[in-house]
Amino acid sequence: MRNDMRNVMPTMNWILLALLALTMTAAAQQPASAPQNPQPASAAQADPTPAQPSAAPSSQPASAQAPVALAPPTTMDQVVDRVILREKDLIKFLAPRTPIVETYLQNLTQDKQLGPVPQDDHYFLGRMDLSESIDRSDYLQDKDKNKDEGMEKRLLGGLTKRFKFQYQPLGFSWMIFVDRNDFDRQHYDFHYSRREFLGDVRCLVFDLTPKKDAGRGRFLGRIWVEDQDFSIVRLNGTYAHPSRNSYYFHMDSWRLNLVPGYWVPSYIYSEEGDFTAGAHNTIAFKAQTRMWGYNLKTGTPNDELTNIRVDSVKDDTPTAQDATPLAAEREWQQQAEDNVIERLERAGLLAPEGDVDKILQTVVNNLEITNNIELPRPVRTRVLTTSPLETFSVGNTIVVSRGLIDVLPDEGSLAMVLSHELAHIVLGHNLGSQYAFNDRMLFSDESTYQNFGFKHIPEEETAADKKAIEMLKASPYAQKLETAGLFIKALQQRAPQLSALLQAHLGNNITENGTVTRMAALATSSPALDWNKLDQIAALPLGGRVKLNPWDDKVEIVKAQPVAITSARDKMPFEVTPFYPRLSRYSNANAPAATTAAAPAPTTTTANASPTPAN
Ligand SMILES: [Zn+2]
Repeated sequence: MRNDMRNVMPTMNWILLALLALTMTAAAQQPASAPQNPQPASAAQADPTPAQPSAAPSSQPASAQAPVALAPPTTMDQVVDRVILREKDLIKFLAPRTPIVETYLQNLTQDKQLGPVPQDDHYFLGRMDLSESIDRSDYLQDKDKNKDEGMEKRLLGGLTKRFKFQYQPLGFSWMIFVDRNDFDRQHYDFHYSRREFLGDVRCLVFDLTPKKDAGRGRFLGRIWVEDQDFSIVRLNGTYAHPSRNSYYFHMDSWRLNLVPGYWVPSYIYSEEGDFTAGAHNTIAFKAQTRMWGYNLKTGTPNDELTNIRVDSVKDDTPTAQDATPLAAEREWQQQAEDNVIERLERAGLLAPEGDVDKILQTVVNNLEITNNIELPRPVRTRVLTTSPLETFSVGNTIVVSRGLIDVLPDEGSLAMVLSHELAHIVLGHNLGSQYAFNDRMLFSDESTYQNFGFKHIPEEETAADKKAIEMLKASPYAQKLETAGLFIKALQQRAPQLSALLQAHLGNNITENGTVTRMAALATSSPALDWNKLDQIAALPLGGRVKLNPWDDKVEIVKAQPVAITSARDKMPFEVTPFYPRLSRYSNANAPAATTAAAPAPTTTTANASPTPAN
């Protein structure tokens, strides 16, 4: 697939093929036989010992290298020792890194027909500091931020309930490691359970219980350990004995083998509540936490200096050729555009150019060619690495968020999204020329949203929608706009509950006060939204289309087996679902990441009614 994508010319046929693949992708590797919950049987010996934080500092000297010279363990005890050693290696390896961490959470309510559906939502985006403890600093300005942070915040496992339930974003990142400080035999009992494959990787499975006097906040659950280096690849469980005002979430934490010798924390799924009909929950939610940007350049001065390479300067343009005022204006806009794109990429908010861009680009080309649009500079497309549904353009670059691509049902709806931004470009609604000044690029990554903004005035939004619909009607997508209209209807139905997902951070909002405004005219000519029509897919769950490599931030289209929809509940538009990445070992080929079937995105029942093949 990868190679095909690179070799085939971006023709109409290609895009149809690619998007067909895109439509068919995103299957759930539903864990038919995989154990879901740890057996907390032995945890019944609950013990009210007060917290004794970091009582026994570990004495294991951790080597930060991949384990090459170590002899294979021969007993289960030796395996456990190796697991502990590898975990300490990982902690050391990741200590200097500050990955981006994003948590998207939907509080749920029961719908008679659809089961648990979103009631409201929360979004957190931050930077993680793994150097001494696990800490999160936020990209978003938090209006109702908890005043008493500090020590208490560190102790909280995810939720405070002093006045109301208040989510602590840190709580969702808790299960990056088993136990940051005390993962050892003094604090834990290891019970070997069995062998099991996770994707392509054979694993040993252990149940972990904290020892009686191990203190508060100890891991309780199950770990999966790959059987070559004995790195932990998955953790599933919770933390035992929270303090009085806190609450630990249940988490399912996955790592990917993205660098030789290390399995890097990548996804954490959290879920609380009883989703059976009639259950009364004080708290019921599903949340996805993603980590990426592990390999972002942290900008240490030494690195930058050694990388400076002065090439012989050679200017090919004839010296007599000065820029006309118009040419200078375009040059200036190009500079602003390049600055912004480079800065966003450096902040971990924009994926490097890749295969997904080729798909977007082809749709843009189709719109341009059929509308005879000729622009002085080519239109480029890029993917924002974040989940909230948003688009914007800077200069001639159209940026679409990962989350928005995830939920689009088909090519026509992708064309709808891109046409709006293309219309801004065609209409000359240029934005961002102030960013041609380089001082405006000098800010901390965490303050990106305060320093960048690409919002249009309402008049330009209206004009862009009008122009976009004109372009769509003259394009190959003219006959495929029904689903795009259905997407808008589905979004309209869910919009009041999804204000966090719909909050744009750089561009214009797609909705206003819970009403979809962007391209809303398309909804009028689409069929009625019908939950019971199983072949009517108006919007997909989050995470079904685009997979983001946590190490290098590259994005690619998820390749997964389609799964048949069997009831209205399978549609799950815009919803959060568990992660189930197909694990594989690092290979030197250019695709180190596991094939992630992150979410069970539905396909039409008629297209492929075969059940998910077992792994
Ligand atoms: Zn716009």
